Amino acid sequence: MPLSDLVNTFGQDLLRRHGRRVHKLAIHAGFSCPNRDGSKGRGGCSFCNNVSFSPNAKALPDVAEQIAAGRRVVRRRTRAEIYMAYFQAYTNTYGDVARLGALYRAALAEPDVVGISVGTRPDCVPDAVLDLLCELRDAGHEVWLELGLQSAFDATLARVNRGHGFEAYRRAVLAARGRGLAVCTHLIVGLPGEGQREARASLERVLALGTDGLKLHPLHVVRHTLLAKEWRAGGYQPLTMEQYIATACDLIEHTPADITYHRVTGTATRDILLAPDWCAKKWAVLNGIEAELRRRGSAQGMRVGERIAA
Ligand code: SF4
Repeated sequence: MPLSDLVNTFGQDLLRRHGRRVHKLAIHAGFSCPNRDGSKGRGGCSFCNNVSFSPNAKALPDVAEQIAAGRRVVRRRTRAEIYMAYFQAYTNTYGDVARLGALYRAALAEPDVVGISVGTRPDCVPDAVLDLLCELRDAGHEVWLELGLQSAFDATLARVNRGHGFEAYRRAVLAARGRGLAVCTHLIVGLPGEGQREARASLERVLALGTDGLKLHPLHVVRHTLLAKEWRAGGYQPLTMEQYIATACDLIEHTPADITYHRVTGTATRDILLAPDWCAKKWAVLNGIEAELRRRGSAQGMRVGERIAA
């Protein structure tokens, strides 16, 4: 039984709605991040790898070239026909609206690109950006706004130097969904000082405000980060794979079945991953989540409404 029989995955949702499998192509459009350049904060989030930061936009291939390269790679492995362009690297709404519009439109101008996903911080989505995304959606494209919340606890967000609190997320998600924009919320499991209970509480606060999609990610320690220093000094203990799988399954069970899971785990490449080692093994984690849900006789939505144990 595939995971998509137990979890409402974004891949299956796209397949149902577009009639063909939709493949994601990651775009690095040369954005920076306001949590690094001082406009919102300095130093960046403690878990954010900064080696490839300060990208020189001129050195990057343009959007159409990146899509062409991604398309070639995906087609070698699959019979891909249509794509979503995922503006993934750093803060993809951090720029003036004319520049953003040109980048997003360049992706959507490709005849086989059916939509865009735009990853960003909740404190970086002014009305003008939301209006631009609505304009693209109203032109018939699939448009997702991906908001990195990570935790609903302000103390945790401060501890990882996130540079925004839950209130920024509340404002952004209400403004976006108030316009009918689809929002995918990112949550990290295993943040410093957090356990299963905090992960559940973050999910509950996200669900109470409303969201259309979720992405779960285990916190991993990668090179050239503040978290790496903390971990080396013994100040941070990463999750075991079993702990992550148990928590991810809990979150999935407590998520209403109509919300799509864009991701239930995340990986880091071996060249930058320091810990935990299992974060390099995506399929082991996905298979583990599927096996655990089956062992529980459970699936997405099966425990919606259950309160967090006191
Ligand atoms: S994780 Fe995102 S918000 Fe945080 S510093 Fe890195 S790019 Fe900026």
